[in-house]
Amino acid sequence: DLPAPAPPGRAPRRRSRQIHVGTVPVGGDAPVSVQTMTTTPTTDTDATLRQIAEATAAGCDIIRVAVPSQDDADALPVLTAKSPIPVVADVHFQPRYVFQAIDAGCAAVRVNPGNIRRFDDKVKEIAGAARAANVPIRIGVNAGSLDPRLMAKHGAATAQALVESALWECSLFEEHGFTDLKIAVKHHDPRTVVDAYRLLAARCDYPLHLGVTEAGTPLQGSIKSAVAFGILLSEGIGDTIRVSLSGPPAEQVKAGCHILQSLGLRPRKLEIVSCPGCGRLQVDIHRLATRVEAAFDGFPHPLRIAVMGCVVNGPGESRDADLGVSCGNGKGQIFRKGEVLRTVPESRIVETLLDEALAMFE
Ligand code: SF4
Repeated sequence: DLPAPAPPGRAPRRRSRQIHVGTVPVGGDAPVSVQTMTTTPTTDTDATLRQIAEATAAGCDIIRVAVPSQDDADALPVLTAKSPIPVVADVHFQPRYVFQAIDAGCAAVRVNPGNIRRFDDKVKEIAGAARAANVPIRIGVNAGSLDPRLMAKHGAATAQALVESALWECSLFEEHGFTDLKIAVKHHDPRTVVDAYRLLAARCDYPLHLGVTEAGTPLQGSIKSAVAFGILLSEGIGDTIRVSLSGPPAEQVKAGCHILQSLGLRPRKLEIVSCPGCGRLQVDIHRLATRVEAAFDGFPHPLRIAVMGCVVNGPGESRDADLGVSCGNGKGQIFRKGEVLRTVPESRIVETLLDEALAMFE
């Protein structure tokens, strides 16, 4: 019963126990899933369901919604009934919302033990209700809300402190025979994230939810997340991921999907291979590549498209692509699998690529 050999450059996947977040398996040999959180008020169920639909279209597998008030908890049944993907309730301060989320049909509940001061008394009840409903619990430890006792002991939210907190919270559930758990230990520093998840991976077999918390604006946050997740996933650590960006949930999902695709952990749909440009550039490459990407957003077939800024290296560099364009003199030479198809004016490059792509899958 040996695990499948890892692709080149990647360690074998860590053996984690598998849990089920609704219809989505997490851990074991399940594909690494992508999740995000809605940013609309949970009480605004129409807006929240719209965001869930956008995230789902972008590749999201699991959606989390915040439950900060009674009204939010009351909105959960509508969301779980209408969401196309499993809904996880995110509860910070009120254990009673955990019970309500389970009753509402949430696929999992995230608790942040550092924020639930009376949590210790409630664990037995939560474990009982979750077990009866077959609902896993996510232990979510965040640097910003670490248990004050551990902050005092470690002096800061170190990797050790995050892991100690998570494993202690798990042990509270384990005392009641409940092990349907997954764990996240998030920090804003990718190096601490890597250290924490490595430690955690060595000390338990629970599935791990990777996250760099408060990662920042889209560029910075995507890079911080890609660095941390890239290291961890290459070491076989991580069962589900969330890229936290100050941006729309669907963008966070796209970033997460790109990370998995770059590591060969999720089939790539659209890949734009565009050149960075240099002194030979004969087109606004940034604008053209962005327009091509937008035109192919949601294209249902896997496709690699090369967008090259000149004809010097363009054809050669686009040889591996399904479709490609090399620009020069206000024109675009269109390629399919390295073969020149035709030359079109610059203004018709995007539509021609789209036509050729559709023709390939007719
Ligand atoms: Fe420069 Fe042309 Fe290569 Fe783009 S394709 S980087 S413009 S040489």
